[in-house]
Amino acid sequence: MTSPLLPIYARADLSFEKGEGPWLFGRDGERYLDFGAGVAVNALGHAHPHLVKALTEQASKLWHTSNLYQIPEGERLARRLVENTFADVVVFSNSGAEANEAAIKMARKYHSANGHPERFRIITFEGAFHGRTLATIAAGGQAKYLEGFGPKVEGFDQVPFGDLDALKAAIGPETAALLIEPIQGESGIRPVPNAFMRALRDLCDQHGLLLIFDEIQTGVGRTGKLFAYEWTGITPDIMSIAKGIGGGFPLGACLATSEAAKGMTPGTHGTTFGGNPLAMAVGNAVLDVILEPGFLQHVERVGLLLKQRLAELMDRHPAVVAEVRGLGLMMGLRTHVPNTEFINIARKEKIILIGAGDNVTRLLPPLIISDADVAEALNRLDAACAAIEAELKNAAQRGAAE
Ligand SMILES: *Cc1c(COP(=O)(O)O)cnc(C)c1O
Repeated sequence: MTSPLLPIYARADLSFEKGEGPWLFGRDGERYLDFGAGVAVNALGHAHPHLVKALTEQASKLWHTSNLYQIPEGERLARRLVENTFADVVVFSNSGAEANEAAIKMARKYHSANGHPERFRIITFEGAFHGRTLATIAAGGQAKYLEGFGPKVEGFDQVPFGDLDALKAAIGPETAALLIEPIQGESGIRPVPNAFMRALRDLCDQHGLLLIFDEIQTGVGRTGKLFAYEWTGITPDIMSIAKGIGGGFPLGACLATSEAAKGMTPGTHGTTFGGNPLAMAVGNAVLDVILEPGFLQHVERVGLLLKQRLAELMDRHPAVVAEVRGLGLMMGLRTHVPNTEFINIARKEKIILIGAGDNVTRLLPPLIISDADVAEALNRLDAACAAIEAELKNAAQRGAAE
């Protein structure tokens, strides 16, 4: 029977019944080690007792009131985000793309409020991914996502990744902001060097531009800091987050300094669902765990362990693994075989991985993984590499026999 779901995803023939920590239980009766975490979403793994409690307690009290009334749990989550970042204010959303939309609108409105409505253009970087709304596909600039959807939303200019001269040349009298992921996720775990980040901050200060970080994938502990910008020595003016902050519940946010947000006065922006009590309860519960003393140190330590083990994997299987890169628990393996094949074979070894550009396979495990989980992952990755080597050898022998 054909599926009534719009076929926009090439879904694997696999579904899951339940999850527990870093484990997923498939309807095929198998247990899978989840090193994808729903694309960096399930930051605390599956069915984390503290999250389950927060959601179910809130669910029995109040789901939705609208943003026409005070939402104390939202005030609390916003305050905690502000206290732990560069930001002064927060606006919630239901997804990453919406958080970026808020960031884009805020940057344009800032210049408009300063008497420069002509400054609306935003510079982004090749390989970027910022979401799938009309504005965010224009921001991402990837032809495969823009194709067939009419004229690209006006106001986005793109420069090559890491090209400071091209960036300088692209800044003009209409430029409002720069938008960048501290580590590009979808295009293959490409970290932006700290020196380049500092140069971006200097350029923004020099030209009166706002610096926007898309930390939708890198944020909420993923790299071993609460936010990846903390590694760089600089701060943005605006930052979008999502994915990990909801731990699996749809939740995003746009954070900003009060200066950058000064154009966003009552009535300028809004959302029906954003910041609803259910999402706020879960967001606070996620922060309870991530802000616990020692949690981020755990992520940093286990991330280093994983990176070291992956480097050893590459040494053992040089015909399969070409490169290991990433930070914290946001790791990428570039392989000599197509990443789709690598991921399929890894799934046969009961480990879930995620594809990315540049033939990279992403490892984005829940942040709660233990050393034993890393060891288990490596056993499975070793088995996957061995299976691929066996196939390569068979193919070579068939080739020789012909
Ligand atoms: C996932 C992602 C988005 C889009 O988030 P959605 O919730 O799918 O809209 C935007 N930017 C980055 C860096 C992402 O990883």
